[in-house]
Amino acid sequence: MNLILFGAPGAGKGTQSNLLIQRDRLHHISTGDLLRGAIKSGSDLGVKAKSFIDKGELVPDELVIGLVKEVVVGKGPGFILDGFPRTVIQADALGQLLKGLRLEIQKAVFLHVPFDVLFSRLTGRRVCKSCGAVYHIVSKPSKKEGICDVCASELVQRNDDKDEVIANRLKTYEEFTMPLKSYFKQTGQYAEVDGDRDEESVYKSIKDLMIL
Ligand code: AMP
Repeated sequence: MNLILFGAPGAGKGTQSNLLIQRDRLHHISTGDLLRGAIKSGSDLGVKAKSFIDKGELVPDELVIGLVKEVVVGKGPGFILDGFPRTVIQADALGQLLKGLRLEIQKAVFLHVPFDVLFSRLTGRRVCKSCGAVYHIVSKPSKKEGICDVCASELVQRNDDKDEVIANRLKTYEEFTMPLKSYFKQTGQYAEVDGDRDEESVYKSIKDLMIL
């Protein structure tokens, strides 16, 4: 089963992807993680991507499509695309790419979460500088404030989770990513899950879709 998880920033794509990779052994392809990795490594791509990410804008399609091409080839079946595609141009490019590899996406799962909930999820999110584990200051605090339960490194707020950038990310999402709902309805791959619930309930709904 190959899945796309899409939805607004803060909808829970990363959290659900982590459950699916741990429990169902799917490969994870997160363009956000790949881009943050490129920034950390100081590569050309990272330098180009950083200015867009820090402003809450999308990284240009050609850069992200190139990145996904590199990682999808060789993955084989059984992967989750998390945060890609985010535009109709990316969705078309993905269709072409997978056709060439004789792979298919069975479901494009939209995680629906109301806007006010997204905002508080994003402002309260903290991530481990070292292992990337994700917390929330209210709904999922670490045992010791500011310290990762898994590896004891420092927890930080992502630059793009600051108030002023979040507003832009949500606006960008509405303009460029929302149209993918009708795109995947037309292709027959669309499925919707209520993402405004605890992570286990959301996971169960995604699993139910996978056996359909
Ligand atoms: P995420 O971790 O998925 O929320 O992504 C963080 C940021 O990386 C986004 O706000 C974008 O700036 C950039 N990004 C991630 N995926 C894409 C994509 N498919 N297309 C363009 N930009 C992306």
